[in-house]
Amino acid sequence: MVKRVTQKVDSDVMIRINRRIILQLIRQKHLISRAELVKLTGLAAPTVSRIVDRLVNEENLVRYGRIGESNGGRPPVILEFNPKEQHVLGIDLGATLIRGVLADLDAEIEMEVQLQSDLEQGYQTVVNQVVSVAERLLSKRGLDAGKVIGLGIGVPGLLDKAKRTVAFSSAFNWYNVKLKEDLESRIGMPIFVENSTRLMALGEKTYGQGKDLRNFIVVNAGHGIAAGTVVEGQLTNGGQGFSGEFGHMTVDPTSPIICDCGRKGCLEALASGRHIALTAQQNSVAARSISDLCRVNIDRIEAKTVFEACRRGDPNAQAICLSAIEYLSIGVANLVHLLDPTHIFIGGGLSLNGDEFWNPLTTGIRNRLLIPNQDVKILPVEFKEYDTVVGSLALVLDSILGLEIG
Ligand SMILES: [Zn+2]
Repeated sequence: MVKRVTQKVDSDVMIRINRRIILQLIRQKHLISRAELVKLTGLAAPTVSRIVDRLVNEENLVRYGRIGESNGGRPPVILEFNPKEQHVLGIDLGATLIRGVLADLDAEIEMEVQLQSDLEQGYQTVVNQVVSVAERLLSKRGLDAGKVIGLGIGVPGLLDKAKRTVAFSSAFNWYNVKLKEDLESRIGMPIFVENSTRLMALGEKTYGQGKDLRNFIVVNAGHGIAAGTVVEGQLTNGGQGFSGEFGHMTVDPTSPIICDCGRKGCLEALASGRHIALTAQQNSVAARSISDLCRVNIDRIEAKTVFEACRRGDPNAQAICLSAIEYLSIGVANLVHLLDPTHIFIGGGLSLNGDEFWNPLTTGIRNRLLIPNQDVKILPVEFKEYDTVVGSLALVLDSILGLEIG
């Protein structure tokens, strides 16, 4: 009896593995015949036919394409991946903005919805906002949840993979919230939750500049600061899934500035967009000159306003930005020393501030390297502010369709 159960499990596992291999091949080759699938997989023809029939008729993931070239006998039927029949949702749950997209199964974005994050109102309000973004995407496209294979969501914070909770998010002030469970019960499709910066790295690895790279880092420099790392071809998670909390690396133990996490001297407390905006608002001389120069109220000064004032030659704004960028370059140089990446991709709101951001950052990093002309490229991320949502689409597609991302 026990033996029979084991055999049943083995056969289910084998069907899933074979389905994954066949689906990957059809997607990679674009057009492929059953005979080629049999040859490439080494599986028996009836096994291939059974799996293909299910992919075509039940799952709608594959369709029959044009008739192939015949070399004498009956021309082969060509199979192709069918990305347009079903959809996937991706959400970047940021501290300032919730960005949601609806895409096809090739991760081509068709619709977008944005909401200002209402994080002051607490966890339940943010959950309601995420549900609302998902519902608006579906209704804009006239789809029901059954046409969507899943929703990927990026959250800034520590995700406890074993407990399937967000263990801690300083940006949202969340402790041990069951975001996956709470969304699944409301949205009615599989939900995949991942750290937002790790998703940026996954987006670069799957669809962006990291496709053919084995060792690279994505730095997310925005409201907070974090890093996603790919080491020897693998996206790193860490022992509990907590890796990448680069922003809470201490870079100045003597600093009196308190970070969101409650500690002093964290990189995020000294170099984030939030820090730049607050410093400008709280320094009365800088606040007045930036406010006059950029014609905004002092309480409306954001990091991008401070950079705008830099561009216009304001020395107070320049001092604030250069100090923040110096700390960021210390942090990034430390990562280079630790991991020896070939590429560093920098995204997040700060990266959108042109030469005023990039020139001092690149110089600051290089000045701290053991070999200043070391062959490490420092570049913007591929999808700018869409990097996390592209990664969230990749997360769902990989989890459900088994696409190659390793
Ligand atoms: Zn901190």
